[in-house]
Amino acid sequence: MEQKCKYIFVTGGVTSSLGKGIISASLAKLLQARGYRVTIQKLDPYINVDPGTLNPYEHGECYVTEDGAETDLDLGHYERFLNVPTSQANNVTTGKIYQTVIDNERRGDYLGKTVQVIPHITDEIKRRIKILGDSGNFDIVITEIGGTVGDIESLPFIEAVRQLQWDMGEDNAIVIHLTLIPFLSAAGELKTKPTQHSVRFLLESGVQPDILVCRTEHPLNAEIRRKIALFCNVNVNAVIESIDVSTIYDVPLVMLKEKLDKVVLSKLKLAAKQEPLLEEWKEFLQHIKHPKNEVNIALVGKYVELPDAYKSINEAFIHAGAANECKVNLKYVHSELITDDNVKDKLKDFQGVLVAPGFGGRGIDGKLVAIKYARENNIPFFGICLGMQCCVIEFARNVVGFNDAHSSEMDSNSKHLVIDIMSEQKNITQKGGTMRLGAYECALQKGSLASKIYGKSKITERHRHRYEFNNKFTKDFEKHGMLVTGTNPETGLGEIVEIPSHPFFIGVQFHPELKSTVENPHPIFVKFIKKAMDLK
Ligand code: GLN
Repeated sequence: MEQKCKYIFVTGGVTSSLGKGIISASLAKLLQARGYRVTIQKLDPYINVDPGTLNPYEHGECYVTEDGAETDLDLGHYERFLNVPTSQANNVTTGKIYQTVIDNERRGDYLGKTVQVIPHITDEIKRRIKILGDSGNFDIVITEIGGTVGDIESLPFIEAVRQLQWDMGEDNAIVIHLTLIPFLSAAGELKTKPTQHSVRFLLESGVQPDILVCRTEHPLNAEIRRKIALFCNVNVNAVIESIDVSTIYDVPLVMLKEKLDKVVLSKLKLAAKQEPLLEEWKEFLQHIKHPKNEVNIALVGKYVELPDAYKSINEAFIHAGAANECKVNLKYVHSELITDDNVKDKLKDFQGVLVAPGFGGRGIDGKLVAIKYARENNIPFFGICLGMQCCVIEFARNVVGFNDAHSSEMDSNSKHLVIDIMSEQKNITQKGGTMRLGAYECALQKGSLASKIYGKSKITERHRHRYEFNNKFTKDFEKHGMLVTGTNPETGLGEIVEIPSHPFFIGVQFHPELKSTVENPHPIFVKFIKKAMDLK
């Protein structure tokens, strides 16, 4: 008989931001490296249907999957660690659950019945959890429950986990609880009480964690491990230390040392198969820890106060740095603070300038000034989405001579709307989930920088935008030295612009950062860093 899919639930206690996403991704990596097919799903207890309508300051970057789901940034970690794409089914929110249940109710599916959190909401949560397992594509599904146990919003999710474990039996579904062991410096001691309390919260909901992963700044000695095990009712070998490390990419190795994967497999009654194959991973770590070169890259954007707003770009630079054995010092430069007068001072120490994605008019002027500086001073330039649109506007104004050039997102009265709303977007009034989302093909012009970077003539990249390059002006741009070198083969939409006379100047309408992984660093990031190194 074919082996049924096994489930691992990851909950968090004591405080948020303990890194459930990284622990889930690291465990998944180890299981994958032992030969299992693994995917990770995130359940988010908030009521937004997806994070697409959230300001980056609220929740960090919105990650986009191949099939066009706007998702939590943890899905980015899952893909970067596993090198396997996620999908719509990998991120579920309370909003999605309720939307489905209410639609069912209106259709009459529950006719005659009172619709309630238990069983209707919990059944829908269970259905969503099982979709991935039932697909036949995975041996193990790891489901990360967002939020912290004890939150009102999380309760239906915890109840669904309890029921699933009861339905499936404990050999088929286990719970890992991630918790914090704080160090009180005045007492010079690690404290276990918050962990005991958070486990008690879970127990009150009928869930006994099988494994505890303990975040700590100091090693846990045998006595503390025994104490945690005793009071939280788990085996001593199921108390896993997760000590602070210098890079998230160390966590799989730290978990390997603590035998998290082995404990998980034995609880799920699965064979350990081979020792995890992690040679490439170790080599990657070797490269980020012992770089031979160093470059400074400026990330010009307006959400710079919150590093998570540009998470995937950050990580893509780490991958590209490793590929070049180069340390990339990525510094955030606030676009609102860049002016003609200070741009030289602000950007003089950088070997490359990246202008970030974004929405709305705030900070645009500073971005245009930064692009002009990079263009005129032959500094490698890379614009992503809004960053690409800005480099088109800058070129139109300062080279083509369209003084009022703009995007209709900022100024619809301009006579030269070099960036304009896509025709398919014109009649859309709803904001949620209506952008051009997910993977589309792009054909690359022969001989272009893009085709050299990718080494092929057709690519697919992921999108999230409403505005586009206005093809009406293509000739004007070409005449002055900016070329459209990547286009969507079906719609003719301009996806890539370049200035061939510049050492490295590229703007892309899509989001290459979303496809960069440890195993497959994105070629544009890799070549951008290479150029920055060469010109240093
Ligand atoms: N605001 C721009 C648009 O909607 C760019 C979006 C982005 O940078 N993701 O087209």
